[in-house]
Amino acid sequence: MATHRLYYDDSYLQNFEARVVCCLPAEPVRGIAGTQAAWEVVLDRTAFYPTSGGQPNDLGLLGEANVLDVHDDDEDVVHIVDREVTTGEVSGCVNWPRRFDHMQQHTGQHLLSAMFQERFGLPTVSFHLGEEICTIDLRGHEPSRDELMGAQRAANRAIFEDRPVNVRYGTREELARIGVRKEVEREGILRAIEIESADLQPCGGTHVKSTGQIGLILVRACTKVRQDWRVEFGCGHRAERLATSDYERQRIITASLGCAVEDLPETVAKLVRERDVQFKNVRALLGQLAEARAAQMVAMAPPGANGTRVIATVLQGVHADLLQPLATEIAKNEKAIALLVLVESGQVVLAQHPEAGRDLAAALKQVLASFPGKGGGSKDFVRAKLVNAGDSAAALEMAKRIVSQ
Ligand SMILES: [Zn+2]
Repeated sequence: MATHRLYYDDSYLQNFEARVVCCLPAEPVRGIAGTQAAWEVVLDRTAFYPTSGGQPNDLGLLGEANVLDVHDDDEDVVHIVDREVTTGEVSGCVNWPRRFDHMQQHTGQHLLSAMFQERFGLPTVSFHLGEEICTIDLRGHEPSRDELMGAQRAANRAIFEDRPVNVRYGTREELARIGVRKEVEREGILRAIEIESADLQPCGGTHVKSTGQIGLILVRACTKVRQDWRVEFGCGHRAERLATSDYERQRIITASLGCAVEDLPETVAKLVRERDVQFKNVRALLGQLAEARAAQMVAMAPPGANGTRVIATVLQGVHADLLQPLATEIAKNEKAIALLVLVESGQVVLAQHPEAGRDLAAALKQVLASFPGKGGGSKDFVRAKLVNAGDSAAALEMAKRIVSQ
């Protein structure tokens, strides 16, 4: 015989008496303290909601036993508990804060989905009630910021009007006649949830009795997930927690920036602009510095027999970003070859004037065969990083020997 589901007609029922139909050992479950033994209990009637339709299961007590999970098994509701429950009568007690939270989120979801559908033609294709955040997936065009806020505002207006939420039963045809939102395939008597003057849709979940109990709906992000638009939201206590934590983050940021909350966007935009300007300044200064250092280094390196100048230097205490522009500047001089290595990091840059005529890629390959590292480049310009910065001087010596041949 099917379990009589008490929550269908009274979602506020927390304590109930039932008869144990069976209690059998189940697969062990993972609890806080590792794997633990578990039993499956079927009752003749229950107020425990099993995971279904996007709403997670209830928790609570069956007699002395803790309810760890509740799931549907065809017509039966199966309670997974942490100890054996003796046959006969048993009292059930649903963990109310958890259940009421689920009720707030679920009714809030119906209302929010109805607003997206009605106002912006965006149907909800799935709903997920998570530990922290709830989501609905909308199908259709990308909801604009105005549409997201419009749906939120309309849903909150219906909450402030405290409209009744009713459970309706009927056949598919009867529900279709009174305007059920979603087509259903199932035959027989169906259950639907009605939010007066707002929504009617088939649902087996638990709901608050009037929209006022949703408290508030807060829409947060919207992201693309496959072909749909996933809207994050929270209702009731969750909306309060989300708003509070958002404000707390703002408070920390404004304290470190020394500005008022309302000035935050302008202050951050200004900081980003300043950062971009400074970045450009640093690049320009590095360019100038590279030019000056290159001129010095070239002047101090006399040309060899065929006019080639090899400028090999182990650099210390210079910014890593100087390496590349410095090598490039040196290589602008006729027949010059720059061999630079930064001793602190083991970064290597080799560059040459095209007329110097060496193959730096081949030279680097030889160096890296003796001193492990990663890198590469063209005949005229290569970059690498040695695994051991301690190899810097020896690697440079070797590179110098190769290009001087
Ligand atoms: Zn529902």
